[in-house]
Amino acid sequence: TSSETSVSASTVSVSAAKIRELDCDDNIAYYIRKKLRVWCRQPGGQWGLGQIQSTSEEEAFVSLSNGDVMKVARSEILPANPDILEGVDDLIQLSYLNEPSVLHNLQFRYSQEIIYSKAGPILIALNPFKDVQIYGNDYVSGYRQKLIDSPHVFAMADVAFNEMMRDEVNQSIIISGESGSGKTETAKFAMQYLAALGGGSCGIENEVLQTNSILEAFGNAKTSRNDNSSRFGKLIEIHFSIMGKICGAKIQTFLLEKSRVVQLASGERSYHIFYQLCAGSSPDLKERLNLKAANEYKYLNQSDCMTIDGVDDAKRFNKLMKALDVVRICKEDQELVFKMVAAVIWLGNISFKVTDNDNHIEVVDDEALNSAARLMGCSSQELKVTLSTRKIQAGKDTIAKRLTLWQATDTRDGLAKFIYASLFDWLIEQVNKSLAVGKRCTGRSISILDIYGFESFQKNSFEQFCINYANERLQQHFNRHLFKLEQDDYELDGVDWTRVDFEDNQVCLDLFEKKPLGLISLLDEESNFPKATDQTFANKLRQHLKANPCFKGERGRAFRVCHYAGEVLYDTNGFLEKNRDPLPSDSIQLLSSCSCQLLQLFSKMLDQSQKQSNSSHIGALGSQKQSDSEFCPEHYIMCCGVLEVVRISRAGYPTRMTHQEFSRRYGFLLSEANVTQDPLSISVSVLQQFNVPPEMYQVGYTKLYLRTGQIGALEDRRKFLM
Ligand code: ADP
Ligand code: MG
Repeated sequence: TSSETSVSASTVSVSAAKIRELDCDDNIAYYIRKKLRVWCRQPGGQWGLGQIQSTSEEEAFVSLSNGDVMKVARSEILPANPDILEGVDDLIQLSYLNEPSVLHNLQFRYSQEIIYSKAGPILIALNPFKDVQIYGNDYVSGYRQKLIDSPHVFAMADVAFNEMMRDEVNQSIIISGESGSGKTETAKFAMQYLAALGGGSCGIENEVLQTNSILEAFGNAKTSRNDNSSRFGKLIEIHFSIMGKICGAKIQTFLLEKSRVVQLASGERSYHIFYQLCAGSSPDLKERLNLKAANEYKYLNQSDCMTIDGVDDAKRFNKLMKALDVVRICKEDQELVFKMVAAVIWLGNISFKVTDNDNHIEVVDDEALNSAARLMGCSSQELKVTLSTRKIQAGKDTIAKRLTLWQATDTRDGLAKFIYASLFDWLIEQVNKSLAVGKRCTGRSISILDIYGFESFQKNSFEQFCINYANERLQQHFNRHLFKLEQDDYELDGVDWTRVDFEDNQVCLDLFEKKPLGLISLLDEESNFPKATDQTFANKLRQHLKANPCFKGERGRAFRVCHYAGEVLYDTNGFLEKNRDPLPSDSIQLLSSCSCQLLQLFSKMLDQSQKQSNSSHIGALGSQKQSDSEFCPEHYIMCCGVLEVVRISRAGYPTRMTHQEFSRRYGFLLSEANVTQDPLSISVSVLQQFNVPPEMYQVGYTKLYLRTGQIGALEDRRKFLM
């Protein structure tokens, strides 16, 4: 959780290299000398635990736990943590922070069905891929009454709630991670906990929970990774009264994947609502919408995937209608919504007949054309003209140019995507109106952010560019917030925090945000320049951004960005087009002339938004492409910033023990009995006797603060003497 107050300690920016060095090099020499437990990378790339037998300049012989002895390059060896740290709740407690140690710790816990761990102020959730019995009311009250203290999303929500009430500061819970990792489920569990805490007599907490069913019906789909994958990002603000009761909510959504409406990868589905409506609507409604079975619609049947194992679409539809009732969307509006959903799939069935050698087409006059036109509230003829011609200004005259098959298909799909995306936005607006906070409620809020995490595929396009930029911003917020938390801790205990460094990602953000010479400004500029192409855009980037160390120009249309989570190669192919996100003016005109009020409204909204800005659509774009990389949770844990966060939290003095704890544990190591017997002086004597250099620790009023790795050495010493 993090409060919304902005953080001011932004000037400190030092490299993390120093920390890594402390982590590895110094200690590895010590480990090799002492022949302690180490991780070594095996030929397959995985890490194995072992003990060093002997070493030469460059290599070491390591005996693995299975008895094998392996020759390993010294650079492939990392220190392992002492036994007492096996499976710690919080990664910060690890003496040695490296990839195998972190993964091992998480795996160790996961194998015992412990899915939650902490990394300092962060909660790490691993998807159990099965029901785990840790979300019942007994757990809610257990966490509320502090009877349970193991890491849990309930514990996080509890902290947020308490801090909101105590400090009267708004809170946010940021959930990040790869698709299918459990973000949306985690968000729902957090909401469940807050609803239980903030439930009152008016039942609005139930309305807030019901929004999930609505959002999921219209914004989730089955993908190859997740049967219920959210194809948009969301921020839910839950408002509380001064008494801590939920009194309203507000939902914002980002980056809905519009392309899914018209194009599906094999084995994936479009948005749930299409199948739900076809399966679950009443005979009357079916007749009014002229609805067929889902597999009769091209937008839906193209991927050979019509159903989801264990899911009954008809039942889900009934659940959705109940949810719409609960948030007080009136029956007339519900009917309008379903009409638009049906219009979209009927549009998809409209087909074209090629009429000449230049691929020009005519619209086929059939049931699809008539049904789509009727649902939209226009004549079949009007729809036909819009899909087959484009008006072009020639001097004073307007002439109608015939479209080719490709252009007509694009126009049809553009219309379908626009209608669906506008419907999604409109529906959320209606939900927001219902949940709006009344005047009498002037309390505080907790926001929950559930967005796509950092993405890096073989081919990265505009969508990844936007997602990664958003994550880069989040990361900075995070870094600064963490640093502030650390600083507060140190100050309270009288420790000199100016000696604590952390790595900032400002340089990368500058690369995106600098005006006029940043990635976004340059993209907007090129998007408004009629003759620009993706190639001229790439050239421009190379020309203007080469001085930024986070930018690397590549040959052709590509460029590289060094993100906090790793380097990403972007292909500018389609950047300009997607940033403009155009709908032909003929289509806009058609929509504004339709008798359906919703379509009129959508065209008006588009008109206004185009007047407001003719530039960047970042934050409002569409088509998210199917990813082509392998799902690799281990990779994700390492690259989504967990290690960086732990590093920041440990950048200063990660090991903290009260003077009492420290003297009790290590006091007996002193060669001469300490005369005073007070914990503080015993602690300091221990540190001096073992030659811990003064820059490796600080003595606070209540605690001792140690740099990374120091406690490991003392532990070994202790074990040796016990
Ligand atoms: P994401 O939003 O990150 O794409 P989801 O939250 O939709 O992922 O999770 C994907 C699926 O994984 C869920 O539909 C659910 O079956 C399972 N899952 C995720 N988290 C949990 C959990 N804490 N307990 C049980 N199942 C979970
Ligand atoms: Mg999700």
